[in-house]
Amino acid sequence: MERTSIIRKAPSELRTQPNLVDYEATRRAFSWDLAREALAGLPGGALNIAYETVVRHAGGPLRDRLAFRFLGQDGAVRDLSYADLAELTARFANVLRGLDVVRGERVFVLTGRIPELYAAVLGGLRAGCAVSPLFSAFGPEPIATRLNIGQGAVLVTTELLYQRKVAKIRGELTTLRHVLLVSDDGTTTEVPDTHDFGRLMAAASDDFPTVPTRPDELALLHFTSGTTGTPKGAMHVHGAVATHWATGLYALDLHPNDVFWCTADPGWVTGTSYGIIAPLLHGVTSIVDEGDFDAERWYRILHEQKVTVWYTAPTAIRMLMKAGPELAKRYEFPQLRFVASVGEPLNPEAVWWGKEVLGLPIHDNWWQTETGGIMIANVPALDIKPGSMGRPLPGVEAAIVREGKDGLVEVVDEPDVEGELALLRGWPAMLRGYLNNEERYRKCFSGVWYLTGDLARRDADGYFWFVGRKDDVIKSAGHLIGPFEVESVLMEHPAVAEAGVIGKPDEMVGEIVKAFVSLKKGYEPSEALRMELLAHARRKLGAAVAPKEIDFATTLPRTRSGKIMRRLLKARELGLPEGDTSTLEAGA
Ligand code: ATP
Ligand code: MG
Repeated sequence: MERTSIIRKAPSELRTQPNLVDYEATRRAFSWDLAREALAGLPGGALNIAYETVVRHAGGPLRDRLAFRFLGQDGAVRDLSYADLAELTARFANVLRGLDVVRGERVFVLTGRIPELYAAVLGGLRAGCAVSPLFSAFGPEPIATRLNIGQGAVLVTTELLYQRKVAKIRGELTTLRHVLLVSDDGTTTEVPDTHDFGRLMAAASDDFPTVPTRPDELALLHFTSGTTGTPKGAMHVHGAVATHWATGLYALDLHPNDVFWCTADPGWVTGTSYGIIAPLLHGVTSIVDEGDFDAERWYRILHEQKVTVWYTAPTAIRMLMKAGPELAKRYEFPQLRFVASVGEPLNPEAVWWGKEVLGLPIHDNWWQTETGGIMIANVPALDIKPGSMGRPLPGVEAAIVREGKDGLVEVVDEPDVEGELALLRGWPAMLRGYLNNEERYRKCFSGVWYLTGDLARRDADGYFWFVGRKDDVIKSAGHLIGPFEVESVLMEHPAVAEAGVIGKPDEMVGEIVKAFVSLKKGYEPSEALRMELLAHARRKLGAAVAPKEIDFATTLPRTRSGKIMRRLLKARELGLPEGDTSTLEAGA
């Protein structure tokens, strides 16, 4: 189909980067075996994420460097050095042993972003357990489902969360043997059938020999965002750490003196792979904000903590854009040298906003819960193409595929053709299964390819462009329309903060394009504005692709990981059942 390009040409002003790594040369020289050599490893070919991230640093020159700085909601600041973290993880591993929890058992963590969460995740890994961090905002039902399909043996949570959400479902948690409660007020907890986390930690030894896990041994369970349906539990192994190391270096440009802020919660894979593992591997100091999004506080954190590398999501960027430019002008970010985004397509407008307001363009990158780490990125050393996800990282082979002969997919060699995005299987962080869903896991593969479920195209320069999820693509009068392209054009209009686009069934054309938009500060919904937006979209996209209907909304429904849930916009529009909404953000 004819495609109106929304993309301005990438000028070389969109090249950030003091630490330039030659993209082509690195790709040629790279192998996953070499990445493994950059890790310490344990005797006998063993590999343990906790050893690589914490234990080995605590015995070396990084001992006293800050691993984490926690910014409490009450303004309190709590610092943990690499040595502190090593001690806490040893204590927690000993606590597990003291409760007869053995290698391979599953530990779930349900807390806010407090130090105990980080100690439990890394301590659990150190003890050879598989760990699953959950969003603390989950209600009782999603908690029960996840613990049951993940066969949780241990749950670390806070007293308040336990009383509010877990106590009443405790009887349904058939595999759960121990609940450890973190006190909310620094005292000790006294709740029947639970242990006090603090008391056990204080009594435990601070010496623990890291379990020499095999690279293919289960380490982390992460549930997908539930954007397209019921969340799937992806299984990840210790060997994934090689991917976290390489991607932390090549996609995020992490170096030991950085102050890094990944805004994601560990309940979403981004908050674990890049909120915990990758920065620790590189000896970086990470900022952890215990609070939720707040435009003013976020600018203040960037400024006051002198953040050098920032990893966030389009939803946060759009909210900062929505808050208006005045707020940003109160702060300066001279230390900031690299900004990246993940989770949804980053509209070209947002890339330019970064350049204007933060002083740096934003580097979009693409990956999924299933891939465990970043796969495609606007890498530091190359020009950003606004609206593009970038190019495959060293060690990653990506392709556009289509149905081929014998039921297998075949690679589309010509550039600029839309098809399913696929990755050559075998990178270390690739999922090793979905919990309780072998059948769905098998469907992820076709021959040597892992199929992502996303549609994209590759341009002649090797950059990949997101078109939409296979489930979200709109078929209108013989055209295939990706929602992202329409949303990006709407966002170019000064009034629009956010847009979500769906296909609405129509007898004549199959589906018509319908958009939901929320407005920036200072704009009010009106018939005149609706007409203006319709005309703007028509002018940019042509009549076949532009929305026929636009509704105004104060906010769009979003997952906890910050993704617009188009399936919910659609279900609501059509009066259909909403399906699994366990990951829906409150009030959406
Ligand atoms: P579910 O699989 O349950 O529907 P989900 O796919 O949203 O949820 P995640 O694994 O958190 O769960 O998200 C991965 C998906 O997010 C990708 O498959 C892609 O659709 C989208 N995504 C992530 N990063 C980008 C990006 N930079 N550009 C476009 N899409 C992205
Ligand atoms: Mg998915």
